Amino acid sequence: MNRMQNHNEKRLEMLKKRVNRCVCKSCGNTLSLRQLDYNEFEDARIELFCDHCDRLEFGIEPEIYTSAQYYVDEFRVNLFPDLGNNQVTRRMSIANIADVMSWALQNLGYLNKEGFVVAPDMEGKILRECIVFDDQMMNDLEQELMP
Ligand SMILES: [Zn+2]
Repeated sequence: MNRMQNHNEKRLEMLKKRVNRCVCKSCGNTLSLRQLDYNEFEDARIELFCDHCDRLEFGIEPEIYTSAQYYVDEFRVNLFPDLGNNQVTRRMSIANIADVMSWALQNLGYLNKEGFVVAPDMEGKILRECIVFDDQMMNDLEQELMP
């Protein structure tokens, strides 16, 4: 096996792991593997793709997406106020904050291309907020259904 083949196989292995683990940093949906033909001289390349956003997307750890989404929604962060306050600027803000969070985690040594070095503790504040919200939703539902 030559070095290029070895490199391509390692890259494909890494992409397969990411497609099973990561989500789109803009919309939070799962990713897929796609074979792209750049031109007739270059070999077809496998890339990660978000079918929902219809674009190439390397993906992000789902825990980071959840954290970024929570941060943007809870603190009403809009990094693109000139473009309005809408779903597009919300998604762009989440993607941006998720990038910052990933960058910090990588630089602190908690994250690499294979994912978290130490498993994140998601039993903390963010999940608790979700459970409280779910209970509230259940109560609202129960009240709606009560005669
Ligand atoms: Zn997406």
